[in-house]
Amino acid sequence: MGFQNDKAVVVFSGGQDSTTCLFWALEQFEEVIAVTFSYGQRHDEEIEVAKRIAEDINIEHHVLDMGLLSQLAPNALTRDDIEVEAGEDGELPSTFVEGRNLLFFSFATILASQKKAKHIVTGVCETDYSGYPDCRDVFVKSLNVSLNLAIGKEFVLHTPLMWLDKKETWELADRLGRLEYVKDETLTCYHGIPGDGCGECPACKLRRAGYEQYMEQKERKEL
Ligand SMILES: [Zn+2]
Repeated sequence: MGFQNDKAVVVFSGGQDSTTCLFWALEQFEEVIAVTFSYGQRHDEEIEVAKRIAEDINIEHHVLDMGLLSQLAPNALTRDDIEVEAGEDGELPSTFVEGRNLLFFSFATILASQKKAKHIVTGVCETDYSGYPDCRDVFVKSLNVSLNLAIGKEFVLHTPLMWLDKKETWELADRLGRLEYVKDETLTCYHGIPGDGCGECPACKLRRAGYEQYMEQKERKEL
């Protein structure tokens, strides 16, 4: 039951970050499998976007049902009656789902084990992490150790965006030759609008500010 050293499972939501990670993984590894978790997101569109991109770039894609998350942790991403709000005074934003990454990364690793893949790639990022404790580097490293002990293999969890801000994530997409693709095809907006989104929600604002900063930097370099 050996590993395939050049095989990776990417946790893939169809958003800017995980799509950039997918293209990063395609450069790093011989074979890439994407996994999307369905947990009663407000917008089924998210799942559809993920399916479309996976089909477009012709990779194996699994959609796993994680509906129990919305039973355990009702939040603004899964429930229409909870507004999307930024956290105030050190409180977490209403989009926070407790333990989400713990569960997603664990299930992705179980899938990786079944597929004999050594690598698991996720788009978590400590720079813009809005206070989500399970986006921190120390959490991912700790979970990596726990998963290796739990399953008895030497998996490697990769977090290529961990120390990048949104501007640098756009820069990475550009370096991978996928800037336009990521801009046009991915969905980050809390209101379920792909590409440039609604322009008003916190996710759209962060995404656009990063894009504008990157384009400014790029133009300066090209002058
Ligand atoms: Zn939006």
